[in-house]
Amino acid sequence: MAYFKVCPKCGAALDPGEKCDCIEEAKERQKKQEFLKWHYRIESKSRQMAFVFDNEEAGYAGKKCS
Ligand SMILES: [Zn+2]
Repeated sequence: MAYFKVCPKCGAALDPGEKCDCIEEAKERQKKQEFLKWHYRIESKSRQMAFVFDNEEAGYAGKKCS
């Protein structure tokens, strides 16, 4: 007698203990999104730091001049 689980997400028949591809795909997508979020945060941070650095340099140059 065949016993199988049904994927709650897409309804595909699964062997007991088998994970459906759609769940793995969703995880992969989430991982990618996390990576993009993380990467974007780093990028905006370094941009901010570059901005601050530019400001400090400008301030320093200004002090030097006066
Ligand atoms: Zn599925």
